[in-house]
Amino acid sequence: MAKQGVDNAEMKKIGMIQQKQKEYFALRLRVVGGDLNPDQFRKVAEIAEIYGDGNIHITTRQGIEIHNVYYTKLEKAKDELQTVGIRMGACGPRVRIVVACPGDKTCRWGSIETKGMAARIDEKYFGSETPHKFKFSVTGCPHNCAKASENDIGIMGGILPKWQEEGCIDCNLCVNICPTQAISCENGRYCLDEQKCINCSICTASCPTNSWEIEKKGYIVLIGGTMGKIPRLASRLTGIVENQDDLMRYIDAAFSYYKQHGRKKERFGHMIDRIGLEKTKGDILNEI
Ligand code: SF4
Ligand code: SF4
Ligand code: SF4
Repeated sequence: MAKQGVDNAEMKKIGMIQQKQKEYFALRLRVVGGDLNPDQFRKVAEIAEIYGDGNIHITTRQGIEIHNVYYTKLEKAKDELQTVGIRMGACGPRVRIVVACPGDKTCRWGSIETKGMAARIDEKYFGSETPHKFKFSVTGCPHNCAKASENDIGIMGGILPKWQEEGCIDCNLCVNICPTQAISCENGRYCLDEQKCINCSICTASCPTNSWEIEKKGYIVLIGGTMGKIPRLASRLTGIVENQDDLMRYIDAAFSYYKQHGRKKERFGHMIDRIGLEKTKGDILNEI
C-alpha cells in the first residue's frame, strides 16, 4: 500500500524520519542531555514493541529512536509518548537536541552544572530554523566527553588555576601532570602560562597540599565544530565566562551571526572558514 498524505519535509521538523522502506519511519525522541526517567524508559520500550519492531536505537548524540513505525501509526505513537512527557526530536536544517555530559553533579572533574544548562539552551533554541543542521553540546570540563568541539556551539566548563606558595612542598607533581606543560618552576616558585593552559583542573584536583587554587570558574564558548563529510574542530570564542546570563548573550550573538551570514546548507564552521575566524569572532564579540 502506498503511503498517502505524508509531507516528508514537515515530518522531519517533528522528528519523524522516512526510512528507505518508504512506508516506515524512525521516531526521533527529544532526549535532552541523554536523560529519561524510568516511566519514560518503560513507555519507550512499550511503544517500540507495539508500533515498531521491538528494537530501540541509541544514537551517537545520546538520542533515542524507535525505528520501523508504519506511517499510519506515527500520530498514535507520538501521542502515547507525550503521556509521559516525551516530546519529538528534530531533523533537517534546524536546531537539534542538546547533548550534555553528567557535569559537576556527579563527575569529579566537572567545573559546571551541565544538565540545567542544556535544558535552558534546548528551551530557547530547539527547532529554530537555521541554514543547515545546528548542534549544541554542553560538556563539564576539557576532558570533553560530550564532544563540545564537534558541535556548532559547544559549551565547556573550565577553571583558571592560581598558585599559592603557602603549603607547597615542592614535589613537582603539577609540572609533570599538566597535560599542556603550562606549569613551570623557577627558583621554587611555580608559574602558569595562561596561553598554554586549557583550563582542565588537573592541577587543582591533584596537588596534595591544595596549593593550586581555582581563581576563576565558568563556561568557555566554542564555535564551528562539525563532524560529517567535512569535519572541523570548533574554535574558542571566549575565555572563561563566569555568569550564565552573560553566557547566553555570547550564545545568542554567535547563533544570530550564523543565521544572518550562513549560506543554505553551509555549516557554521564552514561559514567561519569562508569569512575568516578572526573576522567572525570580532563581529560576534562586537554584538555583546
Ligand atoms: S567532560 Fe568532564 S565533567 Fe563531563 S563527564 Fe567528562 S570528565 Fe566529567
Ligand atoms: S603539586 Fe602542589 S605541592 Fe607539588 S609542587 Fe605543585 S603546587 Fe607544590
Ligand atoms: S588547568 Fe590544566 S592545563 Fe591549566 S595548568 Fe592546570 S593542569 Fe595545566
